[in-house]
Amino acid sequence: MTYQVTVIGGGPSGLMAAIAAAEQGVKTLLIDKGNKLGTKLAISGGGRCNVTNRLPEEEVIKHIPGNGKFLYSPFSVFNNYDIIDFFEGLGVALKEEDHGRMFPVSNKAKDVVQALLDRLEKLNVEVRKKTPVESIHYGSEGHEITLQSKETVITKAVIIAVGGKAVPYTGSTGDGYAWAKEAGHVITELFPTEVPLRSNEEFIKDKSLQGLSLREVDVSVLNQKGKQIVTHRMDMLFTHFGLSGPAILRCSQYVVKEFMKGHKPVTIEIDCMPDKKEHFLYEELQQDLKDHPKKTFRNLVKGIVPERLLDYLLDYTQIEADEKAANLSNQKLQKFVSLIKHFQVKTHDTLPIEKAFVTGGGVSIKEIIPNTMQSKLMNGLYFCGEILDIHGYTGGYNITSAMVTGRVAGMHAAWESMG
Ligand SMILES: Cc1cc2nc3c(=O)[nH]c(=O)nc-3n(C[C@H](O)[C@H](O)[C@H](O)COP(=O)(O)OP(=O)(O)OC[C@H]3O[C@@H](n4cnc5c(N)ncnc54)[C@H](O)[C@@H]3O)c2cc1C
Repeated sequence: MTYQVTVIGGGPSGLMAAIAAAEQGVKTLLIDKGNKLGTKLAISGGGRCNVTNRLPEEEVIKHIPGNGKFLYSPFSVFNNYDIIDFFEGLGVALKEEDHGRMFPVSNKAKDVVQALLDRLEKLNVEVRKKTPVESIHYGSEGHEITLQSKETVITKAVIIAVGGKAVPYTGSTGDGYAWAKEAGHVITELFPTEVPLRSNEEFIKDKSLQGLSLREVDVSVLNQKGKQIVTHRMDMLFTHFGLSGPAILRCSQYVVKEFMKGHKPVTIEIDCMPDKKEHFLYEELQQDLKDHPKKTFRNLVKGIVPERLLDYLLDYTQIEADEKAANLSNQKLQKFVSLIKHFQVKTHDTLPIEKAFVTGGGVSIKEIIPNTMQSKLMNGLYFCGEILDIHGYTGGYNITSAMVTGRVAGMHAAWESMG
């Protein structure tokens, strides 16, 4: 069969690309190997589908530390607000939650995916599910796509939207990198991002803090000289293998980059009371000790951090549970305060890329034209979504990147195929 535009991959980027191409009136095919489309989209945002983010464009780009600036150009064509209008136009009412995250009012991921499928149908996009693509043979006038079944599809333009390597059961198994290389594209080193961290610290191994979550703490990644590379104030969690939770996921890519430089272990520093300067905390506690000499130190400080962490810190600083305030040495107090402000956890690895939320690295953006998403190396070849070397924090930023690049790729592939 012959098509003007063929989109490989039915995630948010491919769905958007196929819709955008078909809206231009060209004969469009969407191929996916799964028996459903938008599987990863549907599990995003805790399974409610975090469609996009409402923060100003500038902020959205800041939350995409992996080459977010590349998106300025596609954003000038279609941005996060356009995504909101697009879904509202399809009858999917959206609501804003914390940090600008946008969800369907119904809280049902399937409403979002169904709206995209209905739109595809309305535009007469031919959809072939359970159809894995095996390879692409590039030609000067068009391209030949070979399916696993050995059937071939001829197309003027092809859009590769097969995602990265994270969470492969959703269909993203990294198949597209070989097709990009075949066209001469550079694939930058792939790595897991938005991924939990492993630690061999005794308190992790003996599970003394397992399951403990800390609210709104400052989590920093330290470089080899002990300087902070990045800090995020969010919640975090101690697990049976190390650290997880929103602040850790955000910090993870900076840890991975240190690992990639050969630096191991990498220290995570937690400030459990980020709104209080260390010397104020010290002076306040010193005053409390003076004012309540007969109280136990544990009772005096109870509540400043969760009880399990407090007991661990007291144990670590060798302060007995019944130690009276009057008897506590300045040295021990100083050590205790220092731990509250600079609790350090050495990390030595991450969970594998398959367990990461997002893939870092991918098709180099240097070889992609930003306002069309076309390959600079091959006519009629386009890329969009997570296969590109663009990665953001979770919170709708990756999905925004996928839909925006998909939209631009779809439009331009259609125009090129008409020429
Ligand atoms: C649990 C989880 C939660 C997430 N939460 C968020 C969040 O809150 N905010 C956020 O911004 N991002 C989140 N993400 C990331 C986000 O979902 C992805 O970045 C986004 O889905 C990428 O879209 P994509 O279209 O590029 O690729 P994908 O969504 O991965 O889709 C790729 C499609 O290509 C198909 N495909 C692959 N190979 C072939 C082949 N050979 N032949 C045919 N078809 C093929 C696959 O079947 C799949 O349908 C989350 C990810 C996960 C795993």
